[in-house]
Amino acid sequence: MEPVKNLSFDNTQIAFEGKSNADLNRAYWLFWFINHNSIVKIGSPMVRFSINNGLPIKGIIRSTVYKHFCGGETINECQDTINSLSKYNIGTILDFSSEGHEDEEALDHTQKEILATVDRASKDNRIAFCVFKPTGLMRFGLLEKMNAKMELTAAEQNEYKAARARVELICHLCHDKKIRLFVDAEETWIQDVIDELILEMMQKYNKNEIIVYNTLQMYRHDRLDYLKKIAEDAKKNGYKIGLKLVRGAYMEKERERAALMGYPSPIHDTKENTDKDYDAAVRYCCENRDFMSVCNATHNEKSCMLMAEYIVNNDIPRDHPHLHFSQLLGMSDHISFNLAKAGFNVSKYVPYGPIKSVLPYLLRRAQENTAVAGQMGRELQFIIKERNRRKAIK
Ligand SMILES: Cc1cc2nc3c(=O)[nH]c(=O)nc-3n(C[C@H](O)[C@H](O)[C@H](O)COP(=O)(O)OP(=O)(O)OC[C@H]3O[C@@H](n4cnc5c(N)ncnc54)[C@H](O)[C@@H]3O)c2cc1C
Repeated sequence: MEPVKNLSFDNTQIAFEGKSNADLNRAYWLFWFINHNSIVKIGSPMVRFSINNGLPIKGIIRSTVYKHFCGGETINECQDTINSLSKYNIGTILDFSSEGHEDEEALDHTQKEILATVDRASKDNRIAFCVFKPTGLMRFGLLEKMNAKMELTAAEQNEYKAARARVELICHLCHDKKIRLFVDAEETWIQDVIDELILEMMQKYNKNEIIVYNTLQMYRHDRLDYLKKIAEDAKKNGYKIGLKLVRGAYMEKERERAALMGYPSPIHDTKENTDKDYDAAVRYCCENRDFMSVCNATHNEKSCMLMAEYIVNNDIPRDHPHLHFSQLLGMSDHISFNLAKAGFNVSKYVPYGPIKSVLPYLLRRAQENTAVAGQMGRELQFIIKERNRRKAIK
């Protein structure tokens, strides 16, 4: 394929256009610390302990990792982030973090918060999508039991009715207000139930426009077949498909569980096979863009370039309403800002919520940015390159 003119992920001037020197220095030190595996290894349990025991470290977290990776504690506190991303044509996806809360009251509270993001999106077209994580609305153990096709007690049946109603109301409101909605993907041992429910929502709410998007984790070796199966079903039954494509975040956990319980791992054996399926899925969705919409949700430069090249080489408008890219706030700005500057549809997940709720998310970001085999992390390399570029033109 022909390369895309005016698009390079190496352009750090564009990538960090919105960052002052002070912002860049803060990011440098943050990633410098995170890059040191031993600091993250020792630091993570200490941070967890301190937060759980009320030790006064929230201030430090707030002004460092939290400031870098999150929008704020509330929707209103995300306003500055929404403004600064939109200045560079990047949309926001308000991602309420509510991990680890399972009682009905907490699940209801999460639903209220997601509904508030939908309401906010309906008043501000800079909010590109809304999103929820299924276990924020439905108890993990309940989904696990259903996925294993175990019989539910009468109380559990009622619990599922309430859980399903939470999801349905969000989809319904999104449909009414024409707001696109992502549903995140989670562990395989709860995912069939989620897939079934979200497919039902697509059949109901994606008849004309594409409102509901499920997520496919392409590290699973069954997902490409599943993608083709639901596409065929949509064609046959007259509805449209929305998909967020990701590689998948639970690889170790999936492999460990499969080994422990003695079933074949659902995950590809190699990274190459995951990449192959990922890129095949991107291509398939682009080819079927008349009734499918895709969000290429990745920090992988090759997969982003592949879709950008596909769009340009096939004379598709760069801002085609069915073709999107997305990255996480505070990561891979070299991809997001360069794609947006070149005219493609780009948005960032902006996590928000109380520090304690967002902590597991922050620790995962720290973990995945530690250096591999002594090499400097990619984020840090780009920050250094931009600092040097700015010094050279002073
Ligand atoms: C906007 C956005 C939304 C997301 N939403 C979700 C979500 O809903 N659910 C979810 O699970 N994740 C989600 N993720 C995380 C995503 O699944 C990946 O974990 C993360 O983005 C890293 O993959 P990558 O494509 O960016 O980059 P890469 O660095 O190219 O890929 C790393 C990924 O490749 C896979 N991989 C690595 N080694 C191997 C191996 N040996 N064999 C097989 N596969 C391997 C793993 O999935 C690993 O995470 C999201 C990410 C983004 C940016």
